[in-house]
Amino acid sequence: MASSVGSVKGSSKELRDRLGDDARQRRGATNILDPREVQGDYDAGRLMTTTLDGEQRPITDADLAAFRRNARALGNRFKGGITPRQVIDLSLRKDRHRARTEIPTAVAAASRQAKDGALEVRFMTSSSPQSKRARHQVIVEFGEFAGLVANGGLSPRKAARELVRGRIRFDCDCEHHRYRRRYIATIGRYNAGRPETGYPKITNPSLSGVACKHVLRTMSEVEGGGSVQTFLARAIEKARGGGTAIQRTSQKAADRQAKKQDSRPMAANAQDTGDRDFDRARQALRRKSRATATKPKKTANGSKRAAALGGNANARDKLLAAAKELGISAEQAADIFKAAPKDKS
Ligand SMILES: [Zn+2]
Repeated sequence: MASSVGSVKGSSKELRDRLGDDARQRRGATNILDPREVQGDYDAGRLMTTTLDGEQRPITDADLAAFRRNARALGNRFKGGITPRQVIDLSLRKDRHRARTEIPTAVAAASRQAKDGALEVRFMTSSSPQSKRARHQVIVEFGEFAGLVANGGLSPRKAARELVRGRIRFDCDCEHHRYRRRYIATIGRYNAGRPETGYPKITNPSLSGVACKHVLRTMSEVEGGGSVQTFLARAIEKARGGGTAIQRTSQKAADRQAKKQDSRPMAANAQDTGDRDFDRARQALRRKSRATATKPKKTANGSKRAAALGGNANARDKLLAAAKELGISAEQAADIFKAAPKDKS
């Protein structure tokens, strides 16, 4: 069976061609609401329309004011850049659902170092049944790369784990990203492709969402996939060795990874909320809160039990003081209290 991400060979040219077509069409487009117009320099004679409140209708001054507000809020929201975790957390639930149910695979195909020192990784993802394309490609630029290459105190593996917790920029060659998300990425300054300055007045006037399903599927692999971690660690190792961070995944390795991901039962992974990525974040949170909340929780239980046992607040205070002195939990102290013979005096 052919890999669901297709041939590695020629994929770089394919992406270049697609992005070239995209840029050419953009240059020829006449229905673009540019930043000057959003600022108020808009000629009503252009008869542009928006779907801001559901129905498509001509743009008004009030709409332009709303667009300005939306863009400003967005810029503030992403002031500190964006991390893979935030891409997932801030995304729309329906986009995560699409990623989970429609895009089984995302494989790192190639890497190189960008001019500003970031590591640029090209991912190939499978496409959904309704897509015109057999696959899509996602570019992710990892902003902390140069710093982590220089930090020899961290092993390549550890550095790779740090890398995916840091700032990124991204781009996707799909139409969803092109028409609904690229403007947001541009305003948010986490756009890795050509900037899009035309306000999405019809496709996404409220500027909702962060990433398309291909980007989201890729982020879930960036965060949790062993193959991606190995790929990133190797790039760091290569760059530290004085070489370049240039890598290309072999067809065999790409097929192996895609097959492994393909065989994962997607629905079975999506327990609880039916939202795998969100569940993973919640699980991590729960683990964290277990690790830090153990003592207070026991104290609460212990104090309740102590109050029940002693029948008064005084007993509870004594117990808590004793527990604190002994360095044990109130729960343990309550057990000791319970086991001890009652003082009848
Ligand atoms: Zn996409």
